[in-house]
Amino acid sequence: MLIIPDSDFASQTTGWKQSLAQSIRSYNELLDFCELDPLRLPQARLIKHDFPLMVTRHYASLIEKGNPEDPLLKQVLIDHRENLITPGYQTDAVGDLESMPIPGLIHKYPGRILLNLTGACAIHCRYCFRRHFPYTENRINLDEDGAVMSYLRRHRKVGEIILSGGDPLMLNDDKLSQLVMLLNTLPHLHTIRIHSRIFSVLPERITQGLIAALLAFKGNIVCVTHINHAREIDTRNQVTFKKLTSEGFHLFNQSVLLKGVNDHVETLKALSYKLISSGVIPYYLHRLDKVQGAAHFDLTQEQSCHLYQQLRAALPGYLLPRMVDEIAGELSKSPVHC
Ligand SMILES: *Cc1c(COP(=O)(O)O)cnc(C)c1O
Ligand code: SF4
Repeated sequence: MLIIPDSDFASQTTGWKQSLAQSIRSYNELLDFCELDPLRLPQARLIKHDFPLMVTRHYASLIEKGNPEDPLLKQVLIDHRENLITPGYQTDAVGDLESMPIPGLIHKYPGRILLNLTGACAIHCRYCFRRHFPYTENRINLDEDGAVMSYLRRHRKVGEIILSGGDPLMLNDDKLSQLVMLLNTLPHLHTIRIHSRIFSVLPERITQGLIAALLAFKGNIVCVTHINHAREIDTRNQVTFKKLTSEGFHLFNQSVLLKGVNDHVETLKALSYKLISSGVIPYYLHRLDKVQGAAHFDLTQEQSCHLYQQLRAALPGYLLPRMVDEIAGELSKSPVHC
């Protein structure tokens, strides 16, 4: 019952780009699609924006019609509170820029390096901490004899490369394939990890061609999906995840704790169970990075802790994501002690 076509290679390799081109990019179109009256959404307004609205058709299809409080809708609908300046919220909330020895290469933690492959995404999440990241000034250069590859060759204790962005699966298969070939030349590398929201929001992207390109890697391939609510997973996603696991990929999920989206114990519990029945292991529950424009999604430390204590009691240990903060200057994500 796989809907991932094995034949017709040409159309499946370009089909996702067509899907992407058909994404919803305007406020009116999104409200129309969700059968919502703009008058019922006083907080969402047409404001001028440097981070425009963008939603894939697949994700939009999972939004409940006629519900202005839908938790999926809230993640993507522009809100006038994004323009508020809140004290204590920054533009580089996690200190990425100070840990970037070479444009696009972030080395914060021993043993693993993150490559920022692109600024592009398939969906614009309103709470995103990378929304202020100066991608155009920090374009990565992956030439064989360039600075990034030379840095990776020199750092022999780094066994894992994390492909990130933006969204690393916005790169086409040829680009990813070339990157995998380059990474194969590093003897000390044992794992490639891919952090992407595309696994769930643009299932068309997970083609046989993509899988083949990644499987050319000599070591482990770990996929970290980014799903915040159980309703972001439908049967089409489950088929995709099953395909990836059957090919030997390891699947984990990270979520962001978001006010009005997933800040209830039942919601988080349902997410963990939906993930495991889809072959995905809950990994992290991030507290919101204190980024300018996203303060209305934030919960206080007490609220987060109260929720996490309830969640810990409600779930078996293997389904409990680790609640973490990302603190600039630390050598790992910081567990929130509750
Ligand atoms: C989150 C992150 C990692 C990965 O951390 P893990 O705890 O291994 O998941 C690596 N590098 C950077 C820069 C990160 O932000
Ligand atoms: S897909 Fe990831 S990087 Fe892109 S806007 Fe959403 S959270 Fe941010």
